[in-house]
Amino acid sequence: MQQEYHGVGGAPGILIGRVFVHLPSFTTTPAAHAEPPDADPAATLARFGQAQSTAARNLEQLAERLHAGGHSDEAGIFEAQAMLAEDPTLTELVQAQLEAGQPLAAAVQTAATQMHAMLAALDDPYLSERAADMLAVGKAIHAVLYPSGSPLHDLPPDTVIVAPDLTPAETTELYERKLAVAFVTAHGGNTGHTAILARSLGLPAVVGVGEAVLQLANDTPVIVDGHTHTVIVNPAPATLATYQQQRTNQAAAQAYYATLRDLPGQFADGHRVGLWANIGRPDDAAQARAHGAEGIGLFRTEFLFLERTTAPSEDEQYAAYRETLQIMAGRTVIIRTLDIGGDKPLPYLHVAPEANPFLGVRGLRLCMQHTDLFQAQLRAILRAAQHGDVWIMLPMVALPSDITWAREQLQQAAATLQAQGVAHRADVPLGIMIETPAAAVTVDVLARASDFFSIGTNDLSQYTLAVDRGQAELSARYPHDTLPVLRLIQQAVQAARQAGKHIGVCGELGGVPELGPLLAGMGVHELSMSPALIPPMKARLRELTYAEAHAAALHALAG
Ligand code: PEP
Ligand code: MG
Repeated sequence: MQQEYHGVGGAPGILIGRVFVHLPSFTTTPAAHAEPPDADPAATLARFGQAQSTAARNLEQLAERLHAGGHSDEAGIFEAQAMLAEDPTLTELVQAQLEAGQPLAAAVQTAATQMHAMLAALDDPYLSERAADMLAVGKAIHAVLYPSGSPLHDLPPDTVIVAPDLTPAETTELYERKLAVAFVTAHGGNTGHTAILARSLGLPAVVGVGEAVLQLANDTPVIVDGHTHTVIVNPAPATLATYQQQRTNQAAAQAYYATLRDLPGQFADGHRVGLWANIGRPDDAAQARAHGAEGIGLFRTEFLFLERTTAPSEDEQYAAYRETLQIMAGRTVIIRTLDIGGDKPLPYLHVAPEANPFLGVRGLRLCMQHTDLFQAQLRAILRAAQHGDVWIMLPMVALPSDITWAREQLQQAAATLQAQGVAHRADVPLGIMIETPAAAVTVDVLARASDFFSIGTNDLSQYTLAVDRGQAELSARYPHDTLPVLRLIQQAVQAARQAGKHIGVCGELGGVPELGPLLAGMGVHELSMSPALIPPMKARLRELTYAEAHAAALHALAG
C-alpha cells in the first residue's frame, strides 16, 4: 500500500527508484569492534596517528576535487574536516580510551562521539555546527583503519539511499559517481551540510523524515520528491504515472537547455540580448560557462575579501582575476571594485559605527578612505587585463565626482605599474553601477565620465522605495518591479543608449523569468544573473519577439 513520509527539508529533483538502506559506517565493520585490545597502546596510538594523517589527506583531496569542479563553498566543509581530523584533542581522547583497555575501533568511535558532544554543547553556533563534522571525521579515520569498501560503491542506478544521516563525504561520493541516485535521511535539517551539499550538487534528497524510514526493506519501490520534501513508498499506479510525467517534463527541459548552451541570448526575431553571469569567485566562472554565460556582468570581488583575517594581496587578486579571464576565454568580464559596508562588513577594516550603514561609508566611499586597498585592487585588475577583456565597474556612485576620483586612481595605478616595469594594460573601460536613484536620473551627465553602466536593481530598489533590502517583511510588500523602480530603469536605459553606452542589469530582477524579458524589452544590452538562471532565461527569450517584450515593458511602465 502507498505510504508517505515527510521530511523537514531536502534538495529539489525527483527520483523514482528502489530503496537501499545504508547504516552508519561506524557499525559496518563489526569485525573491527570484535578486535581484542592491543597489547601495546603506544604502537596502536602511532597507527591511529597515521590514520589521522591519511584521513586528513583524503579529505583535502576531496576538497581539491570540489574546487576543481567549481564547488568552492562545499570544498570548505572538507577543508575544515581535514583540520579536525588531526586535532590534538581527538588524539588525547583516543589515547585515554586505549590506556583504559579499549580496542582501537571502539576508542575512535568513543573519542569522536565525546568530541561531538563537547562541540555540540558549546554556545557558539559556528562551533556547535562543527559537531556533526566531528562524527564525519571519526568515520573517515575509521574507514582508513578498517577499509571495508564503501557500501555506496556498487549501487545500481535509480537507487534511493535511506540512512540515519549521510556525511558530506558520502554525499560527495554519490555525486562524483554521477549515478542517478537520491537519498533520504532519518535525521538532519534543511540547513545541515548534507542538505546544502545535495542542493548545490544537484542530488534529489529529503532529510529529517524520522527513524521509521530506516525500517524499510531493501528494493522497496519508492519515489523521492525533493521539491515537496516527500518520500512515497510503494507508489500507487496513478501516483507513479504522475511522477513519471513530471520527470519526463524535467528531463525534456534540461535536454532543451543543453541544446541552447552555446547559442547567444536572443528573442525569437533574432534581436540579441547578452545573457551574462554574476559570480563571486574564479571557480564560479566555470559554472557560468557550463550554463552558457556569454560574459561576466558582475564579479563581486568582495567575496575574495570576506571570511579572512587580512585582505588578499595584489598578487593573490591578480591570480584570481587572471584565472577568471582565462576561464572566460576572451569573453567580457566586468570586475566590480570592492563593495564593502552596508550588510557586508570586513572584520579587518575599521569602519566607525554608523546609524545607517547602507547610507554611509559603503562601496566606493569606503575605498576613498582606504586608497591603499583600492590601489592594490586596481593594479591587480590592470595586470590581469592582459589576459582577457576586462571592464572595471564602480559600486555606489551618486555623483560625477565619484567617477572623476576613481579615474584619477586608475591613472595612478597604471602609472605605478609603469614605473615599476610591471606588465599591464591601461586602456581598460571604467563604468559604474546604477544603484542610487541619483545615478539613475543623471545617466546623461554621468555618461560623459563613465564608459558603461550596469543597473543594480537590488540597491536601486532599496534606495528608491526606502526599504532595507534585508527586511523580509517589507521587501515582500514593496517588490522590486514596482512602477517607480521600473521608470528609473527605463530613464537610465534611454539615456545610456542615447549616449551610445552599454547598459546591462546585474541585480536580481534581471534573472526573474517574467521580468528579464521586460527589461530586455526596455532596451538593455545584457542581463547578468546567477549562472543557473541563464538556461531558462535563454529559453524564455526565444519564445518572444522583441516587439512583444517592448510592448510588455510599455504596458508595465504605464502603471
Ligand atoms: C545590486 O545592488 O543590485 C547589485 C547587483 O549589487 P549587490 O547585490 O552586490 O549590492
Ligand atoms: Mg548593490
